[in-house]
Amino acid sequence: MTRSSSTETICAIATPLGIGAVGIIRLSGPDALSIIGKIFSSHHGGPPGGGAAPTIEHAASHTVHHGWMVDPASGEPVDEVLVTVMRAPRSYTREETVEISGHGGPMVLARTLELCLTAGARLAEPGEFTKRAFLNGRLDLTQAEAVMALIHAESETARRIALRQLRGDVADSIRAIRDALLVLLAQCEASLDFVEQGVEELPAERLAGRLDAIQQDLTILLKSAQAGELLREGIQTVIAGRPNVGKSSLFNRLLRKERAIVTPFPGTTRDLLEEMLVINGFPLRLIDTAGIRTTPDPIEQEGLQRAHRSVEDADLVLLVLDGSQPLQPDDWLLIDTIQINRTIIVFNKMDLCDPIDFALVSVRLPTVPLIKLSASSGAGCDQLKEQIGRLLTERTGGMAERAMISSSRHQQALTATADSIARARIAAADGLSAECIACDLNEAIRQLGGVLGVDGAFTEELLDNIFSQFCIGK
Ligand code: GDP
Repeated sequence: MTRSSSTETICAIATPLGIGAVGIIRLSGPDALSIIGKIFSSHHGGPPGGGAAPTIEHAASHTVHHGWMVDPASGEPVDEVLVTVMRAPRSYTREETVEISGHGGPMVLARTLELCLTAGARLAEPGEFTKRAFLNGRLDLTQAEAVMALIHAESETARRIALRQLRGDVADSIRAIRDALLVLLAQCEASLDFVEQGVEELPAERLAGRLDAIQQDLTILLKSAQAGELLREGIQTVIAGRPNVGKSSLFNRLLRKERAIVTPFPGTTRDLLEEMLVINGFPLRLIDTAGIRTTPDPIEQEGLQRAHRSVEDADLVLLVLDGSQPLQPDDWLLIDTIQINRTIIVFNKMDLCDPIDFALVSVRLPTVPLIKLSASSGAGCDQLKEQIGRLLTERTGGMAERAMISSSRHQQALTATADSIARARIAAADGLSAECIACDLNEAIRQLGGVLGVDGAFTEELLDNIFSQFCIGK
């Protein structure tokens, strides 16, 4: 994507391809209005085929015009449309922009797009509208990335985080840290530049104190990145328990489909099954494991090893027990080895009887949530979902309510920034020269600038990486 953003007018179909009530074609660039002037015939400008009306070229910003797309070569009408005019700089790209809302069929949209191309526009590359919005200063890079995150959000939490980033919360937090570093750098540099004029160096203690305060703010953001990673990658949730307690039934119940094989014979789920689902706004990677028990069968043993590994790696474990029977030694082995703060114990088969050993477990593990349910009938599953939501809200520290780092690019840059600040802090403690400290501060500032994309702190390669992941028309 090396083309100039200012001289060419781009166009693309902005709505998904396929049959829909409405389809939108976007035009952005200096010639957007003259191009639409060649191919649009206003309702007031005469019947279809009656020639293009000149007025649209001079239309005021944020006005909508009813009329016809017309092939200027043949005079043939192509579609009946509404044309919205948004004049620079009051548009998404800050350029002259026209949106044509036509009928949402692939053929009719393709014909209208063809008219735009013939009249002088070129096809937009993926993300080029948003790239122009960034290059024209309407969005910073974190906001441009948020546009994509919002479009791709698969859970309510992801949507909220992306929207907050789009509104500039992440950028504001990062900008505040960068501004504090710039002030500190200016003081270091002033003491270097004007040493002869008697400008004093910032006392080491004060410098260290300021660096610590900045590092603290950065740590809060980086913590949010850990929660962000959970929400980005999906929370690995493992259903564990000995065979035949109803793990596959619970897996299916939560997913509401018959994916795992449910049989009355113990030990049939020999491999791991994984599915994505959203519970209370949190994206979960739900994993059904082979029943955990001692067995001589080598195939089953391999499954068991995988089950053990996945329990160890899990962010959340749903330990299923058969409530219709007294607990067995294998159950107690599992109960005694769980990680307390990331486990929910599920007493299944409550349709048969009230869980037999419920009281015993609740005495043994007073802080672990215990849920009674029936995977067969679905009773109690809503309580389990609520409990999962509560546990994850605690785990993510309510982060979804604040500015949150959810992009690995931002996370890497913030980690590098924290390293530079730590180096500056050591240099300050060791009484090294202001020059050394300035060097580390400069690096930290450069890293943060790269996150925001300010002061030219981005490469064409970075922009390509970001915007090529967008869809065409965005
Ligand atoms: P897994 O080996 O732990 O995955 O257990 P399955 O899901 O395959 O279930 C084992 C047996 O228990 C099957 O016959 C299920 O129909 C039965 N089962 C599972 N959940 C319930 C339940 O809530 N109530 C009753 N009555 N039976 C259940």
